[in-house]
Amino acid sequence: MNVGKHYTRPMPSATETRKALKLAEKLCQERGVRLTPQRRNVLAVINASDQPLGAYDILEQLRAQQPRIAPPTVYRALDFLLTEGLIHKLESLHAFVGCHHPDHPHHSQFLICEDCGEVDELHSPLVRDSLDDAAKARGFAPKHSTVELLGRCARCQA
Ligand SMILES: [Zn+2]
Ligand SMILES: [Zn+2]
Repeated sequence: MNVGKHYTRPMPSATETRKALKLAEKLCQERGVRLTPQRRNVLAVINASDQPLGAYDILEQLRAQQPRIAPPTVYRALDFLLTEGLIHKLESLHAFVGCHHPDHPHHSQFLICEDCGEVDELHSPLVRDSLDDAAKARGFAPKHSTVELLGRCARCQA
C-alpha cells in the first residue's frame, strides 16, 4: 500500500530485518508456538518494508517466490503474528507494521504521516489509562483498542 506521495524514510537494513526475525523466533520458542516457514515469510516481508503493507501487498510479494500461495494462507499467518504481538494492524490504513517491542504486551498509539507514510509507534500509559477509565465509567469492558493519529510528521512539516 502506498500511503504517501513522496517517500523519504530509509529502508530497514537487512541486519535490522534479520534481528527482528531472530527475536520473533526466540519469542515463539519460549511461548511454545510455531513460527512456521509461511508465518516467518509473512513477517519477513512486513519487517523488510519501509511502509505499512496491506494483505494483498504481502501476497503479491510472496507470489514472487511462491506463485500458488493463496490469500487465506496469508490471512492465517497475519492472525498468528497479530496474536503473538509480532506485528500491529493499522485499522485506518488496513495495513500491517512490524512491532519493535514484541517481547512484552503493550497498548500502542500510532502517529501516521499522510505525506511520507512514516508510522511511529508510541506507548503512552496515560492514553491507555484514560481510555480504560472512560470505558469503565460507561460499564464497558474493552478488549482491544487501536489509537491512530493521522497528520504530518516533523520532517514533512519542515
Ligand atoms: Zn508494538
Ligand atoms: Zn512525513
